[in-house]
Amino acid sequence: MEVISIGKITIDKISLPGSEENNISLSVLRLDKIHPVVSGNKWFKLRYYIDEALFLGKKTIVTFGGAWSNHIIATAAACKMQGLSSIGIIRGEKPAILSATLLDANRMGMTLHFISRKDYTEKTIPPGFSKEEYYFINEGGYGKTGAGGAATITQHFKQEDYTHICCAVGTGTMMAGLINSGLPHQKFTGISVMKNNTALDAAIRSLLHDRNRPFDLLHDYHFGGYAKTNVALIHFMNEFYTRSGIPSDIVYTGKLFYAAADLVRKNYFPPASRVLLIHSGGLQGNASLHKNTLIF
Ligand SMILES: *Cc1c(COP(=O)(O)O)cnc(C)c1O
Repeated sequence: MEVISIGKITIDKISLPGSEENNISLSVLRLDKIHPVVSGNKWFKLRYYIDEALFLGKKTIVTFGGAWSNHIIATAAACKMQGLSSIGIIRGEKPAILSATLLDANRMGMTLHFISRKDYTEKTIPPGFSKEEYYFINEGGYGKTGAGGAATITQHFKQEDYTHICCAVGTGTMMAGLINSGLPHQKFTGISVMKNNTALDAAIRSLLHDRNRPFDLLHDYHFGGYAKTNVALIHFMNEFYTRSGIPSDIVYTGKLFYAAADLVRKNYFPPASRVLLIHSGGLQGNASLHKNTLIF
């Protein structure tokens, strides 16, 4: 398997309709470039969990996710690299045909264990799965250790260069890490990819060093809910690729870039803002689409 190449991260300047007229500089932090499958923020969120598991002498990592989960595939890969065993507890009954994500995770050595959606919602640990040598990681890597790893993303750009930092938000772990290592004057904007996820604000705050630190969470760009897409989003992602050369994914970064374009149009960013958009990866999830839906 290809190794993770942190050195491949770039910062790409882009423009969106109206950005230049308003003297808004837009840059994209390309975390998607570190690995073709384990792209983006998941490796950062996992790194200290893995370190802790190794430190504690654990042999096996157990975590949770759905059929197209970036977290599942990243965990499988990270464990393989570190010589750990991995078990994925997967939401829903085992399908006749496994998703590309689960096939890849399995190929990397992850044992897949399917549980009902109800048990999954309650995060029921299946019988026999609470062994001493197992180390558990929350779904999506949520938690302080994950936020600590995500905070190291900021080592890959010059903080002083940006007034605004925007990212897609699932569990909020990455955003919390970015805020924790941000500068006092910086503004943070998270684009929630779930419909009406009202618990998110508290979930992020509980990971912050300063719980009163202001940030914006926007809930209007979910396109119907988690992993939901429509023609407008696909059209935007293709157009964005043509314009910038940057591929995005349907679950997170497509919605982030769409939101950024809308926010520029609505003058959300004051003139002279220097905005950094975090490309948090996730491109492997596009394999759930019909071929030729996306032009990249
Ligand atoms: C998981 C993921 C996110 C969300 O990260 P959280 O820390 O859960 O908010 C954003 N983008 C991509 C591509 C992801 O895979």
